[in-house]
Amino acid sequence: MIIDITDLHKSFGSNEVLTSIDLSVEDGEVVCVIGPSGSGKSTLLRCMNRLEEITSGEVVVDGHRLTDPRIKIDAMRAEIGMVFQQFNLFPHKTVIENIMLAPQMVRRLGTEKARERGRALLRKVGLSDKELEYPSRLSGGQQQRVAIARALAMEPKIMLFDEPTSALDPELVGEVLAVMKDLALEGMTMVVVTHEMGFAREVGDRLIFMDEGRIVEEGIPGAVFDNPQETRTQAFLEKIL
Ligand code: ADP
Ligand code: MG
Repeated sequence: MIIDITDLHKSFGSNEVLTSIDLSVEDGEVVCVIGPSGSGKSTLLRCMNRLEEITSGEVVVDGHRLTDPRIKIDAMRAEIGMVFQQFNLFPHKTVIENIMLAPQMVRRLGTEKARERGRALLRKVGLSDKELEYPSRLSGGQQQRVAIARALAMEPKIMLFDEPTSALDPELVGEVLAVMKDLALEGMTMVVVTHEMGFAREVGDRLIFMDEGRIVEEGIPGAVFDNPQETRTQAFLEKIL
């Protein structure tokens, strides 16, 4: 198990937003997470790289116990790539500079090596011709593909996606999902919060439905979509499908 979460609780003040979460993710697995707004999906992802403090329980990521006070957070985070709904590219840096930055700063990679790696990643996400552009000159779909390339530049073992296509115009969603699908086929471990049911069905190994801070139901995506067992899952799926 590359991610192992046991009895995770997360509160903001007196508001408990994650309740007794147990979740294990295998190396190479693609886990998709769905659920209503406010159900704790983002908070769960953020607990996986300690962007949120863990209130109680255990989160172990690639052997790092996240509650261990001696944990080297930077080293741990370098193994986990995260892609958000907002692309968060550095606006005053070119596309290639955006991708080169973290490997140079964190991994101490030399400029030429970083550039080589950046170019290979741009090829992978289909944006070789945009190397010297600034983010504002790119479409949302292109910016999100750069954000994915930037996360991959750190050679992470795990990629976390938090609604990566939710801010995109509908016609740009497919190009981002295609990049994510390629990554899944290469064997990347991925946890993906998404409303893209087609992606979850086709690419996901497992689907998790969350509601009110709990995992209500999980299973093979097709099985959950076609035959949800819990009334809350049924009600949610009826609304979105
Ligand atoms: P989702 O991603 O499923 O929409 P979130 O994980 O963003 O849900 O939020 C779950 C709950 O936690 C919500 O009630 C939200 O208001 C609350 N929450 C999230 N982040 C914070 C925070 N930094 N401070 C206080 N409450 C928060
Ligand atoms: Mg969210």
